[in-house]
Amino acid sequence: MREILHIQGGQCGNQIGSKFWEVICDEHGIDPTGRYNAGNAGASDLQLERINVYFNEATAGRFVPRAVLMDLEPGTMDSIRSGPSGQIFRPDNFVFGQSGAGNNWAKGHYTEGAELIDSVLDVVRKEAEYCDCMQGFQVCHSLGGGTGSGMGTLLISKIREEYPDRMMLTFSVFPSPKVSDTVVEPYNATLSVHQLVENADECMVLDNEALYDICFRTLKLTNPTFGDLNHLISATMSGATCCLRFPGQLNSDLRKLAVNLIPFPRLHFFMVGFAPLTSRGSQQYSSLTVPELTQQMWDAKNMMCAADPRHGRYLTASAMFRGKMSTKEVDEQMINVQNKNSSYFVEWIPNNVKSSVCDIPPTGLKMASTFIGNSTSIQEMFRRVSEQFTAMYRRKAFLHWYTGEGMDEMEFTEAESNMNDLVAEYQQYQDATAEVEEDFDDGVDEHYEGQ
Ligand code: GDP
Repeated sequence: MREILHIQGGQCGNQIGSKFWEVICDEHGIDPTGRYNAGNAGASDLQLERINVYFNEATAGRFVPRAVLMDLEPGTMDSIRSGPSGQIFRPDNFVFGQSGAGNNWAKGHYTEGAELIDSVLDVVRKEAEYCDCMQGFQVCHSLGGGTGSGMGTLLISKIREEYPDRMMLTFSVFPSPKVSDTVVEPYNATLSVHQLVENADECMVLDNEALYDICFRTLKLTNPTFGDLNHLISATMSGATCCLRFPGQLNSDLRKLAVNLIPFPRLHFFMVGFAPLTSRGSQQYSSLTVPELTQQMWDAKNMMCAADPRHGRYLTASAMFRGKMSTKEVDEQMINVQNKNSSYFVEWIPNNVKSSVCDIPPTGLKMASTFIGNSTSIQEMFRRVSEQFTAMYRRKAFLHWYTGEGMDEMEFTEAESNMNDLVAEYQQYQDATAEVEEDFDDGVDEHYEGQ
């Protein structure tokens, strides 16, 4: 068994994380008491075949999420505990403080969070020891606040130190002024990206800017709430993890997913898309066809990241179709998209688009598809955050909140340039052609010259 250990931190992380568990419990037929309900609507042997990837099996056939919940204040976790699925989690795996992080990355990473981190690591270690052969971790958090962002990235770096050969996947919510809490979010996000570039293996980008736009423009919700945004997030998380949870060949574990999608180690930020888009409560009445799903899935409007793929090129991409459909038709449609849009795929990675079909559709839909793309256009989102960062940092606005927690200004400068380098790297590969220039510096020639 190749287990995944899930960790959720901060308000946003806990909110999207518990939604994720609600959705996957439902898909696997697990009821709120942790029992498998053999009479569930989608009952199938496939529901239990890989149940151990995300769940521990306790006594009396009870399934318990392999999840650790952390926060620097008790509020969000209290409401999870008293919510409809609160009883499913292991009570010992709730780790929380009382101080709060006040939307300050430095409090999460260096002061308040650093005080609580050992209690979190104790629980993580206990879960890891219980595993047969853990493949890695997934972390849910926002980058704009203090806990998920600062403490989340602290935990990621501690885990990397202790489990260097395990995979680290994150579901990271990027901030947008359209749904913002505070002005310092670009600081917190940039400091986090600096960490994620170095210490995470793969990041699924969930950009509040795009989520808001989807709710407003496509779903026609005039005043989107976090609940509406999180509905899109949980559908996407369920789709993105479908290959890990159900039997199949493509991207069946975290490492295979990384191998297929990451041609260069720093470029591991994925754009994710979902089709069909539906709002909370409303269901898809007209049943979609494979061509319609394919068209929607590749559409810029369906991407959970505010960047237009037509402004860049795909290095790689994977598509997961769910429901009863013909694999042949899926393959034909996918080839069709690539042939018609060949200039949007780098020609120097042949066969860079993979697709798969999972028989089990998400609850409430007959068919759906999820898209994971490594597109150079994602630099647009990093540029947006970087511009907001630089505008404030130029005047050193709000810096005292961070230096007051003992942070050095240098870390801000380094974070800023690391993110700008990332943008430049995306641009470099966007412009790259199949021809490799004679003087291409791959660092190898020099090494061998003197030998
Ligand atoms: P923390 O508790 O200190 O980690 O702070 P938050 O998670 O509240 O981080 C604030 C950032 O997360 C802001 O960019 C918010 O817009 C965003 N945020 C907070 N809650 C949610 C949520 O439930 N869903 C989404 N999509 N974003 C959230």
